[in-house]
Amino acid sequence: MDHLPKCKANYVPLTPLNFLNRAASAYANRNSIIYERTRFTWKQTHERCLRLASSLRSLNIVKNSVVSVLAPNIPAMYEMHFAVPMAGAVLNAINTRLNAKNIASILRHSEAKVFFVDCQFVSLASEAMRLLIGDSQESTFVAAESSIPLVIVIDDIDSPTGVRLGELEYEQLILKGNPMFVPDEILDEWDPITLNYTSGTTSEPKGVVYSHRGAYLSTLSLILGWEMGSEPIYLWSLPMFHCNGWTFTWGIAARGGTNVCLRNTTAYDMYRNISLHKVTHMCCAPIIFNILLEAKPHERQKIVSTVQTLTGGAPPPASLLEKMEHLGFHVTHAYGLTEATGPALVCEWQSEWNQLPRHEQAKIKARQGISILTLADADVKNMNTMRSVPRDGKTMGEIVLRGSSIMKGYFKDEKATSKAFDNGWFKTGDVGVIHPDGYMEIKDRSKDVIISGGENISSVEVENVLYRHPKVLEAAVVAMPHKRWGESPCAFIVAKNNGSDEDVREVDIIAHCRKNLSHFMVPKKVEFLPELPRNPTGKVLKGKLRAIANNFVVSKVTTGEISYDDQPPQILALSRL
Ligand code: ADP
Repeated sequence: MDHLPKCKANYVPLTPLNFLNRAASAYANRNSIIYERTRFTWKQTHERCLRLASSLRSLNIVKNSVVSVLAPNIPAMYEMHFAVPMAGAVLNAINTRLNAKNIASILRHSEAKVFFVDCQFVSLASEAMRLLIGDSQESTFVAAESSIPLVIVIDDIDSPTGVRLGELEYEQLILKGNPMFVPDEILDEWDPITLNYTSGTTSEPKGVVYSHRGAYLSTLSLILGWEMGSEPIYLWSLPMFHCNGWTFTWGIAARGGTNVCLRNTTAYDMYRNISLHKVTHMCCAPIIFNILLEAKPHERQKIVSTVQTLTGGAPPPASLLEKMEHLGFHVTHAYGLTEATGPALVCEWQSEWNQLPRHEQAKIKARQGISILTLADADVKNMNTMRSVPRDGKTMGEIVLRGSSIMKGYFKDEKATSKAFDNGWFKTGDVGVIHPDGYMEIKDRSKDVIISGGENISSVEVENVLYRHPKVLEAAVVAMPHKRWGESPCAFIVAKNNGSDEDVREVDIIAHCRKNLSHFMVPKKVEFLPELPRNPTGKVLKGKLRAIANNFVVSKVTTGEISYDDQPPQILALSRL
């Protein structure tokens, strides 16, 4: 059979761009985008993307040029996911919650040629450009003109503001563009399609490069893993700048769905859009659950038909999952990271679990799960021996992944790229266990594991218990120096209603933990904060909390203190990976 030909008809590079061509033909008159009063069909979206791609070409955008964008989940942001690679370029969607300095660093590092800026972010972008231009003028190497991107404002298509930065505006590019533009064929599926910077929770942000092949396969496997049927009405509650909306930017075209775009993820706007457009699917980080659950009565609308909700990005406490299900959201839990094109594990549901009580189901759902289809393998390994840990749900190791959804590598950073890959595996830096049924569960980020008297304490496990306390809104647990045990857990709590209506005290929290945790895991100190420090993607900045906790050296027995006899003597400690 070896002599059979591999030709242009049967060996076609994989690219998610084909999803749009297909949608324009198969779902031509179906709604592709709804944004307030603005509506587009798939035929129109396709045409707008062709026009934009041709305009980008006329602005000297060539193969592998980087096009950056700073915008919320508006139609233009969606269109760019197709139009920029149609012009042969690489899309760099920047996190809108970053400050000007971070944005300037990304523009500099990515060498962006064009920088699209939504009208809401004009002053932030101006500040970033000021820093970028200042830097390049100060540089001893005289800055080439081309190191400064051309800035183009995207005005709000639904309610124009008239705000401009420079002469060009996004809609002009669409208007002037050629609807008959023929994009170059993708000849190599390994060509880059997007460049996404990590959120930098534990180290400096790095530029992660995705290929057309990786994006195509990840999109398909997430559609399958989440069992997304055809014609979904998809609410953009997850930022598109986060791993390209976990690939659903391309996935909604593949399913002929409708993108419900959203400028702000306020409770009011989310409930309003869900109800108005009969949303069937949405993705979000667990922090959005708090926004929906804590909504004021006037912000809420009844959820009449179940909203399939994919969550991940941070550990969702079981209690939060249970509350969301009560509200009408059917939650699927996934785990992933920028380097894995978003979700890499999904807690695939088994029908036999339907018989379990609700709170048991929520506990199972809080596990991160099994590999998505594009991964060749996922495992938990002892990084010293590179051996798989036993499937006992107890022994911790580092989660490692291999397969087609893993990034090409870090842009302009060979050292970090080779450090991330080891022995044919991508190392996630997350510590987890495998249960006997093969489902994985994250216990911590390797940098966040608390090592107390030789024991590893998972901060996630302690946080899960804290979230079950009725007066706790948010919780984060970090290591605090302890004279006897080396480290011990310190809890930071945001109380419900900021603790204003009812007092919640440290002793109550410690008593609650002693009831629900092995005693060596009980926080030795509880500190109340008005809010937790978070990075621009909403992840808790544990480094900041550790800096505070470093001042709380505990040496004496306090309310929550324990004797060494409370701990099993077995020493399991992983050194910090
Ligand atoms: P950063 O590493 O800078 O935060 P990412 O946005 O790529 O950038 O975040 C990926 C990290 O988020 C993972 O390595 C993991 O620690 C955490 N994470 C993602 N999903 C989950 C989840 N479902 N449960 C627990 N942690 C998660």
